Amino acid sequence: MSTAAKTTIPIVPAGTPVAKVPTFDVFTTKKDEIVGWARKFSIFPYPFVTACCGMEFMSVSSTLYDTDRFGAALPRFTPRQSDLMMVVGTITHKQAPVLQRIWEQMCEPKWAMAFGVCATSGGFYDNYAVVQGIDKIIPVDVYIPGCPPRPEMVIDGIMQLQDKIAKQHHVILKGDF
Ligand code: SF4
Repeated sequence: MSTAAKTTIPIVPAGTPVAKVPTFDVFTTKKDEIVGWARKFSIFPYPFVTACCGMEFMSVSSTLYDTDRFGAALPRFTPRQSDLMMVVGTITHKQAPVLQRIWEQMCEPKWAMAFGVCATSGGFYDNYAVVQGIDKIIPVDVYIPGCPPRPEMVIDGIMQLQDKIAKQHHVILKGDF
């Protein structure tokens, strides 16, 4: 929220009486900025885990890397409660319709992440059985390279997605306001 970021918070010496501490009760901002700010810190991932990248997903979800810092720590195992489809691992043509169905069951607004090279491009499985990138079947917002990606790369991907969400136009009512 850029307006809040520009606000200078004065340094108050210890012992200053509470009545003299400057406060503010009102600030102005734009609807898209405040909704984008709220949405970027309340990501609910749906982990569609099919292969070895799943170990890295468990690692990045653990306390050591703490995705809770980014408001993205609570995986939901139902598409009805999720807004980030994390495709973690290889997707075969047999699985593709299932992935597509789950994506369609997620409500708008929603985003998709290709986690690792298999989800991004098929990886080294350049064969007839594997989908050569999930963007052939669903729209992808962020690609994370690596086989498997390091947790830091996943966190970088989450932060890039947050930037994207923050800059989007957020329609929250019919006709908007
Ligand atoms: S990118 Fe590598 S680690 Fe991840 S699912 Fe593919 S082969 Fe496994």
